Amino acid sequence: MKKHNFSAGPSILAREVIENTAKAVLDLNGIGLSVMELSHRGKDFQAVMDETVALFRELLEIPENYHVLFLGGGASLQFSMIPYNLLKARAAYLETGTWAKKAIKEAKGFGEVEVVASSADKNFNYIPKGFKIPEDADYFHITTNNTIFGTEIFEDYNSPVPLIADMSSDIFSRPIDVSKYAMIYGGAQKNLGPAGVTFVIIRDDILGKVDRYIPTMLDYQTHIKEGSMFNTPPCLPIYTCMETLRWLKKLGGVGAMQKMNQEKAALLYGEIERNVLFTGTAANDSRSLMNICFVMQPGYQELEKEFLEFATSRGMVGLKGHRSVGGFRASTYNAMPKESVQALIDVMQEFEKMHAK
Ligand SMILES: *Cc1c(COP(=O)(O)O)cnc(C)c1O
Repeated sequence: MKKHNFSAGPSILAREVIENTAKAVLDLNGIGLSVMELSHRGKDFQAVMDETVALFRELLEIPENYHVLFLGGGASLQFSMIPYNLLKARAAYLETGTWAKKAIKEAKGFGEVEVVASSADKNFNYIPKGFKIPEDADYFHITTNNTIFGTEIFEDYNSPVPLIADMSSDIFSRPIDVSKYAMIYGGAQKNLGPAGVTFVIIRDDILGKVDRYIPTMLDYQTHIKEGSMFNTPPCLPIYTCMETLRWLKKLGGVGAMQKMNQEKAALLYGEIERNVLFTGTAANDSRSLMNICFVMQPGYQELEKEFLEFATSRGMVGLKGHRSVGGFRASTYNAMPKESVQALIDVMQEFEKMHAK
């Protein structure tokens, strides 16, 4: 049976990307060697690294004065690398969910943290507005897409201090103005590739300002100087990211992705609003285009488990909501085809016919 992969992460990749990766695992470009058994310093892998960086630059229109790095440790290691490298006295954070909270926890180990606004009062179902970014903060950190709660920041904020964004789950889903950010980072495993590589886009004028000793591997300047090759980079995940970006470019780039993502989300949010059995959890003005969270309407809550089983029997995978929200979460990342969203809608409508009172 065809599977419709709504997993939150690691998540769906384009079939073509998986097939091309499989080919390169057997034989990279006909050189008679697997991409997994090459020196990362040889010309064949260097070409992969260079093309991946070049595609990042081209597709996101990254200005000259930024570096693109590929590191290990996941987005989670960035939660501590950021304050290690950048927090002198005080940093500002926007608290919009579980990942933001984890980033805040690490920063507190290095200095004072000001949470400028939080949506914890409503279980993170909205993006706070009208907050003031303190002008004396060393930086301001945001999480643009809150994977667990299904909310998203679509605006590139004007920040008086260096703006740092965790874009793990919405990178390349729409055009962004990179020049508004001092740093953008994320794990690859939501919209880019398999788990194991973290991308970092960073402007180096923010570095070198703290007095503490920074361990070599945790110092961004090490990786900038060595072109992400201070130690062995995650070669295979980087290869897959390159294939994803080739695919994305062929489809028309981030502008085309945005249009497709808006279409898919509009279809599914429309059905959630229309269907008497379901209701969305995120506030309308904050709804994510990547992770669409919904629960059973009051009066139908006892059907939650049954719906999940019904959807699973129709090939839907990964629909169970995160335990902190409950219900369902349909992740509709770049690689999710509209047909899968339509298949989910069909299942929701069929279930409604069976159960609507
Ligand atoms: C998944 C996710 C993370 C965690 O990424 P790891 O690579 O597993 O450390 C952090 N932030 C956001 C927004 C995420 O979606």
